[in-house]
Formats: sequence, C-alpha cells, structure tokens
Amino acid sequence: MSDAVTYSVRDGIAVIAMNNPPVNGLGSVLRPGIMAGMQQAEADPNVHAIVIIGTAKAFSGGADIREFNTPKSTMSPTLPEINEAQDRLNKPMVAAIAGFALGGGLELALGCHYRVAASKTQLGLPEVKLGILPGSGGTQRLPRVVGAAEGLKMMTSGNTVTAEQGKAVGLIDAVAEGDLLESAIAFAKKIVAEGKGVRRIRDMKVHVDGDAKAFFDKARAEIEKTSRGFPAPLQILGCVEAAVNLPFDEGRKEERRRFQILVDGTESKALRHMFFAERQTSKIPDVPEDTPTRKIERAAVIGAGTMGGGITMSMVNVGIPVMLVETEQAALDRGLATIKKNYANTVSKGRLKQADMDQRMALITPTLDMPAIKDADIVIEAVFERMDVKVELFKKLDAIMKPGAILATNTSTLDVDAIAASTKRPQDVIGTHFFSPANVMRLLEIVRGKATGKDVLASTLALGKKIKKVPVVSGVCDGFIGNRILEKYGQQAYFLIDEGCSPRQVDTAIYQWGMAMGPLTMGDMAGLDIGWEIRKRRYIERPNFVYSKIGDRIAELGRFGQKTGKGWYLYEAGQRTPIDDPAVDQIIANYRKEIGVQPRSINDSEIIERLIYAMINEGAAILEEGIALRASDIDMVYLTGYGFPAYRGGPMFYANTIGLDKVVAAIKGFQKGYQGGVWKLSPLLEKLAAEGKTFADFDAKK
Ligand code: NAD
Repeated sequence: MSDAVTYSVRDGIAVIAMNNPPVNGLGSVLRPGIMAGMQQAEADPNVHAIVIIGTAKAFSGGADIREFNTPKSTMSPTLPEINEAQDRLNKPMVAAIAGFALGGGLELALGCHYRVAASKTQLGLPEVKLGILPGSGGTQRLPRVVGAAEGLKMMTSGNTVTAEQGKAVGLIDAVAEGDLLESAIAFAKKIVAEGKGVRRIRDMKVHVDGDAKAFFDKARAEIEKTSRGFPAPLQILGCVEAAVNLPFDEGRKEERRRFQILVDGTESKALRHMFFAERQTSKIPDVPEDTPTRKIERAAVIGAGTMGGGITMSMVNVGIPVMLVETEQAALDRGLATIKKNYANTVSKGRLKQADMDQRMALITPTLDMPAIKDADIVIEAVFERMDVKVELFKKLDAIMKPGAILATNTSTLDVDAIAASTKRPQDVIGTHFFSPANVMRLLEIVRGKATGKDVLASTLALGKKIKKVPVVSGVCDGFIGNRILEKYGQQAYFLIDEGCSPRQVDTAIYQWGMAMGPLTMGDMAGLDIGWEIRKRRYIERPNFVYSKIGDRIAELGRFGQKTGKGWYLYEAGQRTPIDDPAVDQIIANYRKEIGVQPRSINDSEIIERLIYAMINEGAAILEEGIALRASDIDMVYLTGYGFPAYRGGPMFYANTIGLDKVVAAIKGFQKGYQGGVWKLSPLLEKLAAEGKTFADFDAKK
C-alpha cells in the first residue's frame, strides 16, 4: 500500500485514510490502496466495520486529471471495480466526508453503505459540465438514495449540495459534530451495535413521486427546451429512467452505453478542449515560465467609470489595494457609490459577508491627486476612449510613476503601440482589455505591444490569473482578437437583416444554436451608440469599409438599446426582455427600399453558417498574422467573453468538428451572394482545408 493510503484499526473499526494532494484525485496511487484496505478489513475477524476518510480539504475530487489520457487512468483496480467490491463487502462501510466529494469521489462515497459528512461539505456529480455523465454507477446509485427528482436535478445541473442539504434528501446519514473521524467511528460502532450491517444501495428502489412515465415525460420536455442540443442532460435522464425501470446491473449497462455515446460525441470533446485550452493561454513561446516577474502588490486605477470600477473590484477582491483616481470629486463619488452598491447587492444575496465587503472597500483609496499614485506597481487606465486623452495621460504617468511600474491601458480600439510611444518607457506599457462588467467577466485580453517587455508580459499574465481571469494574449490590431472577430459577426447579422431576416429571426436561430444571446439583443444590451461611433470612425479611416447602414438607421433615431428603452427591440421600463417593435420592421422595410433589396426568405442554417463562418474566417486571419498565438486562444476569448456555447468548444474548435473543407466550400458560396465581396477567404484556412488538416494541427506545431 502506498503512503497515499494508510490503513489502521481502532476498536474493531478499520480506517482507510486517503491523502493524495491536492484534491485526493482517485488516480493510480489511491485506487490500489483503497482496494487493499477493503480486502484487509474484510479478512480480519477483529474488524467489524470500515471507515474511509480523506483530508480536511477533500474527501475526493474524482478522477485524477493529471492522469487523463494516460494508461494510468484505466489501470486496475478501476473505480467501477472498487464500487463492485464495495457491493460485495459483508461488513458495513462508512464514508467520512469533509471538504468535497465530487464526481468519482461521490461515487466512491455512494459505494459505501453509509455517509457521514462534516458541516458545509460540498457533494455533487458535476460530470455534465464536461459533457458526460457519472460513469461508475452514480446515475444508478444517487437516485436510489435521494429519489428520481433530486437525483436528476443534481446530475443535470452538476451543482453541489451541502452536507446539511444532503442530509435533508437522504444522501448523508449524519452531519458530524466536532471531529469527523471520531464521529464516523462512533457512527460505525453504533451501526455494528444495532446490528444494522451492510445497506447496499444497489438493492434499493428509486422513489418517484406519482406516475413514473408522467414524471419522465415532463422532465424530458423541460430538458429539451433548456439544453438546446447539448446532449448530456437527456442522456442522464435516460440513465435515471433505467434506474427506475431496470434491475441495477441492467441499469449500469445502460449507464455505460450512454456514457460512451457522450465521450465519443463532439460536445464532451469540446468541453475537454476548453478545459485544456484554458491552461494553455498563459504559455507564451518566447516568454518561458521562469521569466522573472515584477511584484504587483499595489495598484492604481485611473477613471472610476463603468470599467474602472469593475477593474478596481477585481483587484480588491483578491486583496490588492487600489488607489482610484478621478478628475472630479463628483465622478469619484459616483464611482465609489456604484462599487459599494454592487458589493451591497452581493451581500444582500448572502454571497458575501458584510465584513468582507468592508474589508474590500477599505482597500480602495479614492483620490483626485494623481501624483499620489507614484509608488503603485501597476497603473491601469480606464478613461475616455480618445487617443488625445490617453496620450496626455500616459505622458503624465511617465513623469509620475516610479521606475519599473507597469503602465496598462484598458483601451478597446486604440493603438497600444502609439500609446506606448508617447512615453519614454514603452517596454513598461501593455494593454489590459477587460470585459464589462469587469468584476464578473472572466476574459482579460492582454495586449502585447511591439516594445512590451517580456517581464512585463509575464507579470501581467500572473496578475490576470491572480485576479481570477482567463488572460489571453493578443497582438496589436484594430479590435484585438475578440472585437475584431465580432465586427465580422455583426456585419453578417446586419446583412441578413438587409436581405430579409427580422432581428428576432437572427437572434433566435443563433440562440437555439447555443450562443448566450443573439447579436441584436447583445447590441441592445451593450448600447447601439458604441458600435455606431466606431463605424462612423471606420467610414473615414477605411473608405472601402463595407457595412450595412441598417444599424446606423436605428441609432440615428436615438434608439440606443436597453438604456433608451428601445433599440432593435422595445423594453418596458426597468425590464431587459426584448419585445418585437413594429416600428423597427418599418425602418428595415424602408432601408431595404433605399438600397433596392427585395427581401427573401432565409433559413436558420444559413443564418448560423454565415454568422459562425464569418468568425472562423476572421479567426484564421488573426492566426495567420500572429495576433493570436493559437486557435485555442481564440476559442477561449469567445468562450469566456462572448457567450459562445462551451459544448461547441469555441469557433475554431467548432470549425475542426465540421471540417475546414466544408467551411471553405460554404464561404465560396457566400462570395457569390449578397455583399459577397466581404468574404475574403483566409489563405491559412484554405491551405489547412486543402491539406485535410485542422486548427488543432496548426496549434500542435506551436
Ligand atoms: P466611462 O465613461 O464609464 O468612464 C470613464 C471615466 O474616466 C469617467 O468617470 C471620467 O470622469 C474618467 N476620466 C476621464 N479622463 C480622466 C483623466 N484624465 N483622469 C482621471 N479620470 C478620467 O468609460 P468606460 O466605459 O469605463 O470606458 C473606459 C475605457 O475602457 C475606455 O477606453 C473604453 O474603450 C474601455 N472599455 C470599455 C468597455 C465597456 O464595455 N464599457 C469594455 C472594454 C474596454
């Protein structure tokens, strides 16, 4: 038995203790030890019951991700083999759970006959979040313990329950008071004393409220409506149905069959891709992991508006003190009041303690005195989006800030190299492009200027992780990775309206496909004036810029979206639900007349292809220019910043799953259609397609 598992006997109770940091992953170091411990206990006539326990931090987080895709993950004994051995035990086995029991970890606990948990322990089967289902009997055992409705809810949401909630639904037999191991041993002794013996979950019946068929029909209809083509929840439902209708071993077969369908499906592959893509973004080929970083212990944020406030919150949330600078007291007061209101909301929902809010607020030092920030290790500006304003500010910062301070800009559209050139220390200048609301959104585009120092990049990446963002490095270009692609996506959305779609039709098609919301709804949320301003600039900067003017026609009427109560849709006061507006139909009809377009009927698959293939084609151009380092980085931008459905893996991964040749053929078709001239096929996309390759092949060469 390895050190990771220890075996001891106390007062006739065998204790199997697991210790495989960080999360007690059920890898090849734990599984044999658990199996051996059970065999030893079974063989010892002086042992009457078994307790299995993890550490205070974790009973077990499930499979060991470090062994994913290695032979170790399937080495005997596997978790199902351990679960089967648990079922064969003739002595009662008690799981003593602290911290969390997730996935395979909870399946191990469900193989036990009884469960005792420390207060606040988190229990769950989150496999659905990776597009799969619990594959070691979890779908058969959990409903037998908590009933069909609760089991289905836990497994299709992937959400955890606390020990107390678990006790209420029967998942936990006792919530431990005081020391967990002592409680579990006492519990085991009581079971023995009362002669209760083993209680095999496999022998139990699943409780269903009312008629089983009616229950599953209703649940299926609900899942079909909400899962929008994501297959795992329906497969989980199939397993729970099997748990109700079939003997345990037959149910297990059904679980294995459905598990395999999901593992082989693109959706779970996409989610696994996302899992690994996230771990790639901070790997920069010419900036090795041991690049020295500058310490970032004190920050300054300039501008207490929408973005400055959110950025400040992200910093103080992890204990980094921030000096928040404004030009006028009123703006500073407004900014602070918004931050306070945001925290107070979280406190009122019970998700933050008042004391923590007070501590965070105390880390913010508001000031109108710019020179006071001189000792900050990083200063992030979030002032108005105007080059003259930014240049003037950076000149000031250059004069004020201590040597070695990092000077960061939150600009969304301006040239970071030009901003850097306005200082005498361009090596210290970098872009930190946060997304709104900056305290919530996980994406952080880090814009590497041509002069940005490697240590500055490494330090900013480390800061990004520290403030719990997904930092993705982008080169300097108009719109960086995310907004540059978004421009092409929006361009097609508008052209589709020119040609015959209603805003609702475009939004519904892409929403059903999986995007968090459609482009027109998104525009209304972000404010239509912002895109309008950018387009007006583009018309001047790029005379060949082709974009439908339908968006301008809407914005010209003062219809800026939610903030003005109308945009592409109507909004009732204080509401965010888009309502169809006949006035918009009229504006669109007039515009079609203006440009001489006879509307045609357009089906959903054309809408989806045009929107998504526009993203893919621009993504390929971005890769070719080296603006993004790898296709998986582009995927992370879309997955974490733009509501791209995780189970489709991001635009570039999605392109791989449908085949690049198919994308190229479709684009060639679009070139012959309405405004076909905007479809400039990316040479990289064309080349990869011709060679039968994917963007994964491109990434593999990095
Ligand atoms: P905002 O208008 O809400 O806030 C800007 C704040 O900066 C104002 O409070 C203003 O008083 C202050 N300010 C202006 N000049 C200043 C100066 N010289 N010194 C100190 N304070 C000054 O704007 P915002 O939406 O927060 O945008 C800020 C920046 O972030 C812009 O560059 C914008 O492009 C970028 N950005 C915005 C978003 C978004 O969704 N709003 C997203 C990403 C990036």
